[in-house]
Amino acid sequence: MSTASINGWCFTSSTKSSLRRATFRPSVSAKFNSSVAPPTLIRNEPVFAAPAPFFTPTNWSEDMADTKSYEEAVEALKKLMSEKGELKTVAAAKVGQITAELATGSSSDGKPADPSVERLKQGFIHFKREKYEKNPALYGELAKGQAPKYMIVACSDSRVCPSHVLDIQPGEAFVVRNVANMVPPFDQQKYAGFGSAVEYAVLHLKVSEIVVIGHSACGGIKGLMTFPFEGPNSTDFIEDWVKIGLPAKKKTITENQGEPLGVQCSFCEKEAVNVSLGNLLTYPFVRDGLVNKTLSLKGGYYDFVKGSFELWSLQYSLSSPLSV
Ligand SMILES: [Zn+2]
Repeated sequence: MSTASINGWCFTSSTKSSLRRATFRPSVSAKFNSSVAPPTLIRNEPVFAAPAPFFTPTNWSEDMADTKSYEEAVEALKKLMSEKGELKTVAAAKVGQITAELATGSSSDGKPADPSVERLKQGFIHFKREKYEKNPALYGELAKGQAPKYMIVACSDSRVCPSHVLDIQPGEAFVVRNVANMVPPFDQQKYAGFGSAVEYAVLHLKVSEIVVIGHSACGGIKGLMTFPFEGPNSTDFIEDWVKIGLPAKKKTITENQGEPLGVQCSFCEKEAVNVSLGNLLTYPFVRDGLVNKTLSLKGGYYDFVKGSFELWSLQYSLSSPLSV
């Protein structure tokens, strides 16, 4: 019989020397039930709603619907544009203008270049001068290849970049970011994107740690907690994605009845990490790594309101065989 326990420790960024062991988390036994009953306690309006299309190209659906490849899509777009002679002329002029701007660094009328482009340009110049050129040994090694210790799964939220928050240096971590830092269960049809990342990290890069990091005020988790998941979806992708965390939502509602939504979301942000750790166990090569002790799994939680970071381990131990 095997038992699973999750032991935790945490530290707070406000006191640099406060790295310390803290209260152990209680043992967690996760059940992964695909037939989760629809939640009944929370029926707020979804935080996401399908936005109106930004624009609808004329005949787009007719000309593009049957495209089967990138090349066909480009050809269809060319066809659309060629049918609009005026549009083609405008587009050609615009391409010429942009090319000129790229060459001179400023717009054709002498105004500064697009600020969003300039921001990226200046960012790269700063990186190259202050980091790349000052660390030739590091970047020289990275030019040969990568051997990261960590695979990190973090949210796409712009406030929680793990390289920034954890001072991860280039070459240290193979990072996957998605809405609500979800790890989907093994599914070669639905989740090839995530599956290929974890397969590459474990089997080819041979990372020794997979860390799933949740965070405070996560919009994806708020979506998970507030979408009704009944009837037709109101989003193209988001509901289908965040419902990976439905077991966490179910546990959150059961254990936090009557609590405000914010309290429930905070609980669910951490519990969804545990669901993701459990889902990692559905990947055979992850299980092999755990059994062979070449791989360990950790959960993390970054609270950017309190400035704290919590980390806990997923540890599996086998009980001694009973002697009779
Ligand atoms: Zn998030």
